[in-house]
Amino acid sequence: MSKRDYYEILGLSKDASQEAIKKAYRKLALKYHPDKNQGNKDAEEKFKEVSEAYEVLSDSQKRATYDQFGHAGMQSAFSGGGFKWSDFTHFDEFSDIFSNFGDILGGFGFGSDIFSGQSGGRRSGPRRGADLQYELDIDFKEAAFGTEKRIEVPRRESCTTCKGSGAKPGTKRTKCSACKGKGQILTSSGFFSISRTCDRCGGAGEVIETPCTKCNGYGLVRVTRNIKVKVPAGIHTGNRLRVQGEGETGQRGGNSGDLYVFILVRDHPIFKREGYDIICEVPIGFTQAVLGAEIEIPTLDGKAKMRVPEGTQSGRVFRLRQKGVTRLDGHGKGDQFIRVKIETPVNLNKNQKTLLKDFADACGDNVNPLSKSFLEKVKGLFK
Ligand SMILES: [Zn+2]
Ligand SMILES: [Zn+2]
Repeated sequence: MSKRDYYEILGLSKDASQEAIKKAYRKLALKYHPDKNQGNKDAEEKFKEVSEAYEVLSDSQKRATYDQFGHAGMQSAFSGGGFKWSDFTHFDEFSDIFSNFGDILGGFGFGSDIFSGQSGGRRSGPRRGADLQYELDIDFKEAAFGTEKRIEVPRRESCTTCKGSGAKPGTKRTKCSACKGKGQILTSSGFFSISRTCDRCGGAGEVIETPCTKCNGYGLVRVTRNIKVKVPAGIHTGNRLRVQGEGETGQRGGNSGDLYVFILVRDHPIFKREGYDIICEVPIGFTQAVLGAEIEIPTLDGKAKMRVPEGTQSGRVFRLRQKGVTRLDGHGKGDQFIRVKIETPVNLNKNQKTLLKDFADACGDNVNPLSKSFLEKVKGLFK
């Protein structure tokens, strides 16, 4: 099967910046992450494809080689040309990707032990459970005021039947006969001795003769847990929350992983957020703008009244202090900005038009300060 172009996989053009590559990768990796797509072969393939593309494009040297020689140039970079997890080193890159999010509860980046600890080596010691990721959509107001959500998280937990041992109750793990319990097999070839992980026991040094029927000897079972997540007021899209110990169960006495909840705040039909400030555009009538008026405006706490002064121009911005979103650190709130937009009256009847024409006749130039100064500038240009 011919391989897809790496840029195409990430949906990028050839001149994409490192920032854009990271962004695209983050989005796709979260979408196809195996933790979110359990048993979905297609997603797994996609995840591998995306990871491989990122592995190459995020490395300026590999990228240059790829740009010049295409996939052919990558054969040497990936041993045997095939995909192997062990070829991938960028999992600790997750830490710096994710720390871009983390202005909220920063300082606890993904340790490199989390991902790299999963692969290879002797697997007989305690093993920390995997961290899990979850994307949580919340409403604009929930983000502004904080909320509590219950989410369904599928994860692997210790099997209760065999207490995580993988051996059928009443039976035991026995020493692996292939490696004599060492977990490694030594082969000599000429001058060299090569040690490799035992295939039979996967490096554990022990095998299960009679596997637990509930977990098939794996020691873990898949369950879906309903987990409560406290979302603090002031949270943004891209923030992540860590729920400690709610990842997958560790094995052989290892700690449980953590659950990382990525927040996505839904748009609001009238409010826009900029940091902790809220911006809102409010249409006002032309006569209201001319004569001044008290108008009703929406705020996070409900309706409020605001005075529009006489002679207000379209686009003028009014600030309502402390009417924005509560800051994450709890120190006060942002402001709300109201941008007024003057509406041109439409569908006027004959009588209304006559009145306006009379009004125009009565006005002359000096009631339109902006047009007047603009026309003067134009005149100056074409002299
Ligand atoms: Zn079991
Ligand atoms: Zn063995």
